[in-house]
Amino acid sequence: MTQAPLRLRLDTAALVANWTLLSRLSGSAACGAAVKANGYGLGARGVVERLAAAGCRDFFVATWAEARALADLGVALSVLHGARVEDMADRPGNVRPVLASPEQVARWRETGGGTCDVMVDTGMNRLGVSPQAVAEGLLDGLAVETLMSHLVSADEDVALNARQRDAFAALAGRSPARRMSLANSSGIALGADYHFDLTRPGIALYGGRQRRAHDAIRQVVTPEAQILQRRRVSAGETIGYNATYAAPHDMEVAILNLGYADGYLRCFSNKGRAHAGDAVLPVVGRVSMDLTAICVDAAPDLGEGDWVAMDYALPETAALSGLSQYELLTGLSARFDRIWA
Ligand SMILES: *Cc1c(COP(=O)(O)O)cnc(C)c1O
Repeated sequence: MTQAPLRLRLDTAALVANWTLLSRLSGSAACGAAVKANGYGLGARGVVERLAAAGCRDFFVATWAEARALADLGVALSVLHGARVEDMADRPGNVRPVLASPEQVARWRETGGGTCDVMVDTGMNRLGVSPQAVAEGLLDGLAVETLMSHLVSADEDVALNARQRDAFAALAGRSPARRMSLANSSGIALGADYHFDLTRPGIALYGGRQRRAHDAIRQVVTPEAQILQRRRVSAGETIGYNATYAAPHDMEVAILNLGYADGYLRCFSNKGRAHAGDAVLPVVGRVSMDLTAICVDAAPDLGEGDWVAMDYALPETAALSGLSQYELLTGLSARFDRIWA
């Protein structure tokens, strides 16, 4: 197959190092991995293969379609959105629903579904059954592998974190669940009393950092784009749609095969940066659907067919763009070749 003019460089060593760090920070709890939304955009299969080889045993997806696409890998998969009526027919043996409402629990019982997980709502008001219902026996007799809840503001120091932890901890021994799980990436950094039996990091595996304890988390994803054309722009001429950039002097510009349809959004207009070796190459003008211009004054030898790497360290790029670290990854389009090194 002809290679695409844009690619994601994916760093296996960094992914595995991030999981290993999060696993160590999880103390005696097992460390799983959230791989929903196609592994946060990296490609779920590539992520699961690498983390399973590193020792990860618990994987979380959003839907049954995502689970089915990974079921042949033989790992344990939990479907965070539970079990709809439509999902009951074709269920691979290594996939469990995370039952999220009394209706789903009843449906699972009626169909003799087997082992499941259950989500308890301790404050998100999104998915989950109430702690009270669990304490009153909603799950009695069910084969529950993991009882979980989800933190609202694990990336902030707020009183709600401890309230959620305490409400969840109060359910210990009051459900048939074999394990309990509360912490996402940032939750792991909140301390041992948030770890329970299993942690569920996502964004930090892929280079996200929201907590000082995660300073050693490494960048995993780097978008790279090919140069389609190099051109000279004279002082005073403008570049791109709506002429938002006027060349202050004669300058050299490269046009990249990359744009907002690829997930490199318009907020990078006149703000984003690329690199070639040590040369810093700022985005000039508006990002278009499939094209972006960069100034290549600092790289006299770059030309058609050469590749540049976009600056994409997640915390810094989120601050620059106003996008969340999650959006930066999950928006990356299918047009990228995903290449693991
Ligand atoms: C997405 C998700 C996670 C992972 O969260 P991060 O903030 O990416 O670490 C964990 N648990 C649940 C229920 C989720 O939906």
